[in-house]
Amino acid sequence: MKNDYCIVGAGLSGMVMAERLTVAGKSVVIVEKRGHLGGNCHDEPDANGVLHHVYGPHYFRTNLPHVRDYLSRFTDWLPAEYRIKAYAKGRLWSFPVNLVTFEQLLGRPSTSEEFGQWLEERRVKIDTPSNSEEVVLSQVGREFYELFFEGYTLKQWKRHSRELSPSVCGRIPMRLNRDERYFSDAFQAMPRQGYAAMFNRMLESCGKRATLLLNTDFTAVRNELSFDRLIYTGPVDAYFGHRFGPLPWRSLHFEPRSLRSEELADRREQAGKPGFWQSAVQVNYPNEHEYTRTVEIKHVTGQQTPHTNVVYEYPRDFEPGAEPYYPIPSEDSAKLYAKYAELAAKERNVLFLGRLATYTYLNMDQVVDAALREAERGVTGAGQGLLGELVPHRKQQRGYRER
Ligand code: FAD
Ligand code: UDP
Repeated sequence: MKNDYCIVGAGLSGMVMAERLTVAGKSVVIVEKRGHLGGNCHDEPDANGVLHHVYGPHYFRTNLPHVRDYLSRFTDWLPAEYRIKAYAKGRLWSFPVNLVTFEQLLGRPSTSEEFGQWLEERRVKIDTPSNSEEVVLSQVGREFYELFFEGYTLKQWKRHSRELSPSVCGRIPMRLNRDERYFSDAFQAMPRQGYAAMFNRMLESCGKRATLLLNTDFTAVRNELSFDRLIYTGPVDAYFGHRFGPLPWRSLHFEPRSLRSEELADRREQAGKPGFWQSAVQVNYPNEHEYTRTVEIKHVTGQQTPHTNVVYEYPRDFEPGAEPYYPIPSEDSAKLYAKYAELAAKERNVLFLGRLATYTYLNMDQVVDAALREAERGVTGAGQGLLGELVPHRKQQRGYRER
């Protein structure tokens, strides 16, 4: 059967497009190589029934009301305040750097004024930081840079922060007050029943106009499928057979640990409450261990269970068998991506969308925003009927948002 659209990837980008297009009357075939919807947002219960994020923590937050409203059609929300800690020099620190962190450093109470003054003396005066090291040095000075950023960044990216675009460490806020939240966005919440439930409801909304092929690699079935237009959300270099060589990607290895209540008995002091392993949803390890962070998502899912789950996250090279989790924001990769972007722009009837296809370090809300815009342009497009023209390719998407 011929479909109006083929959508490669059932992540957030692909599913928003599928939902919008089918509601507008178009037929879609969704091709997903994994065995589930949701891409990297996927969550599932472990052996003890504890919901955990399989591909790293996904903290939903946004300043875009239309993105929140759109997703609210498919989920209720559980308000969340994401508070994380960094473990360094044998203790847990409040992170991102804020007045509480400063007080921990001093070992006594302080004020925003004193902290501001202290920073003024230590900040490296750089008007326009040209890399991630300069961003951090210009915001918090060398002491905090060395404590929290230098080692973590090397571990995570296998590159020095001098070789990474300012946007990488520039994602992390710093505050003179005692606001210890990781993000500053107006809306911060988790899907009440989890991400998988949200994606199932998106698929339900597609109805009969969507055909879903899970466990199917697009490259293997490309010639068997019949469609007018393609929406591609996989890696852009793979689409073109790595013609100019592979793009630099960074991968991860996730090691989930299921912990039964009996195993948590002696963790009460560290966790601060029964039924938990650690005292915050995320603990970062900038300078120790091979993993960068441990995530106990139960802190923010609100799940009532005596058991828990902690995921250890290890950075990994992008090698055969690894997933391309992060584009690497740097000058060399931008140059190579520009070559693929040029090819993509010439590809007729193909829309390259999302984090992998645009090689851009995008958060969930940015991905939804982009997909909604593309769908809207398609729906109202260029006087060629209901879904006349999808914009072939947007050369530049914002890679990050200033918080
Ligand atoms: P993806 O989710 O990657 O989906 C692409 C899909 O395409 C995948 O399911 C893949 O299997 C499929 N695919 C690829 N190639 C093929 C092929 N050839 N054939 C068939 N299928 C294919 N964002 C936040 O807002 N908050 C967070 O806290 C957050 N944490 C994150 C933590 C980690 C570790 C990572 C990696 C990302 C995080 N993000 C977070 C970003 C978020 O995951 C992305 O913004 C979002 O999931 C991107 O959606 P997408 O559909 O573009 O890509
Ligand atoms: N970072 C760091 N120390 C930390 C947390 C973050 O140096 O404790 C840097 C690091 O380079 C990281 C980047 O800031 O890759 C962005 O951090 P974020 O937590 O937003 O990463 P993500 O959740 O996207 O992996």
